[in-house]
Amino acid sequence: MKSALITGVTGQDGSYLAELLLEKGYKVYGVRRRTSTPNYENVEHIKDQIEWISADLGDLASLIEAVRVSDPDEVYNLAAQSFVAASWPQPIATGQMTAMGVTNMLEAVRLVKPEARFYQASSSEMFGKVQAIPQVETTPFYPRSPYGVAKLYGHWITVNYRESFDMFACSGILFNHESPRRGLEFVTRKVTDGVAQIKLGLSKELRLGNLDAQRDWGFAGDYVKAMWLMLQQDTPDDYVISTGEMHTVEELVQIAFDHVGLNWRDYVVIDEKFVRPAEVDLLLGDCTKAKEQLGWELEVGFDQLVKNMVDADLKRHSLKPSAVPVY
Ligand code: GDP
Repeated sequence: MKSALITGVTGQDGSYLAELLLEKGYKVYGVRRRTSTPNYENVEHIKDQIEWISADLGDLASLIEAVRVSDPDEVYNLAAQSFVAASWPQPIATGQMTAMGVTNMLEAVRLVKPEARFYQASSSEMFGKVQAIPQVETTPFYPRSPYGVAKLYGHWITVNYRESFDMFACSGILFNHESPRRGLEFVTRKVTDGVAQIKLGLSKELRLGNLDAQRDWGFAGDYVKAMWLMLQQDTPDDYVISTGEMHTVEELVQIAFDHVGLNWRDYVVIDEKFVRPAEVDLLLGDCTKAKEQLGWELEVGFDQLVKNMVDADLKRHSLKPSAVPVY
């Protein structure tokens, strides 16, 4: 039986990856960080199948212990401060977790089990002010937020450990990937949750920032399969994972409102509060390398993804007794 250690396992990607690895017969160790109000919402259904280890990306000793206890064949480093907008008010915490945390994790693996295969969750945000369209693995990086800068450090330190210590370390440059488990602050989920609330009479408006931004949005459940595939190859490498399709935030909004029969212009309010100090105007990935070398394929398209997310939020709000409007 193979074993895997996952940081960030309670997040969107961690939960889909844990499901995938459990299905494949892995013993899954999940790192949990101590918080006063733990949140297991994404992994509630598989909580008992995960071996939990308390550790923190900022505490090398705890990571060394996590690797020692789990003795993993594969390590997936998904934990991060992952919300771009929060990285301006908290640039140092973002750097400590999203950048330096990667070195801590790599050091723990190097010291305890250097032959373990390592996956680093890199991000299309590293392309930022894009230097070419579409973006591929060799496109120069130009991050536009403290988050993007931190992820770029994590990317290069992973490449560096591969080249310095001959570790099997891969960096997955994943474009935006979403699902009903996406955090409520990200624009896709904010929109689908907002639409569900408006449809159910729980809210009257949806406040957003820049509707012109364009993203390459895929389904997180498809993307975790690429993570696993990267670690099954003969040699470690870096891969772009994307859909190759780009949509504006406005298109996202339109699909979501159309799905419940409402006109978005009646509800969306532009609020400067959600406009960023420096914007990433567009991201569009070309994942030919992943398709050809990993045999990775996309299953859920953008339209379907948005509709699934709206349906899931409608269901969630309908089931919650407190969410039923009182007339
Ligand atoms: P990101 O690509 O990792 O920053 O993912 P987000 O989902 O946070 O943002 C995607 C794009 O949506 C960015 O260009 C944002 O500026 C834009 N956007 C517009 N309005 C909002 C909003 O209210 N919240 C968020 N999170 N993003 C917004």
